[in-house]
Amino acid sequence: MRIGSGVDVHAFGPGDHVMLGGVRVAHTQGVLAHSDGDVLLHALTDALLGAAGLGDIGQHFRDTDPRWKGADSAEFVRAVLGMLRARGLRVGNADLTLLAERPKLGPVREAIRARIAELLEVSPEAVNVKATTTEKLGFLGRAEGLAAQAVVLLLEVS
Ligand code: MG
Repeated sequence: MRIGSGVDVHAFGPGDHVMLGGVRVAHTQGVLAHSDGDVLLHALTDALLGAAGLGDIGQHFRDTDPRWKGADSAEFVRAVLGMLRARGLRVGNADLTLLAERPKLGPVREAIRARIAELLEVSPEAVNVKATTTEKLGFLGRAEGLAAQAVVLLLEVS
C-alpha cells in the first residue's frame, strides 16, 4: 500500500464556468490557468504521482508546454494512471476536498464522484468528494480563487 497527497490552487479570472473533477460547472467567473485549471483533478494527479514516488504534476506536464495549453486535465489523470499500471499499482480509494466559498459543490457532487471514479477505473464507492469554506477567511474566503486537496491510496495489483 502506498499513500499520496496533492494540493492545488487557481485564481479566478474571466469566464463563465470552472472545471471541477472533470465536470463543467457554471459560475460567474473562470480560472486563470495554462490547462483547463481543474483544481480537483490537479490535486488528484499530484496525489497519484506522490503515492507512486513519481514527483509532481509540473515535472510531467509543464505549464509552459504548448501541448497542455487549454488541456483537459482528465488527460493528466489518464496518463498518470498508465504510469501506475506499468508499475503494478492500482487505486484503492481517493478522498478529495474542494476549498471554496463558491461555486457550491452540492449540485454537482455526485457527477464529479462518478467522473473521477470513471477516470480512476474504480467504483464510485471508492471515491469521496467533499467541500469546505474557509469561513470567509483569506483569499478563498474573499472568493479570489479555488483550492483542492486530494489523498489517494494505491494498492499493488495482485
Ligand atoms: Mg493547477
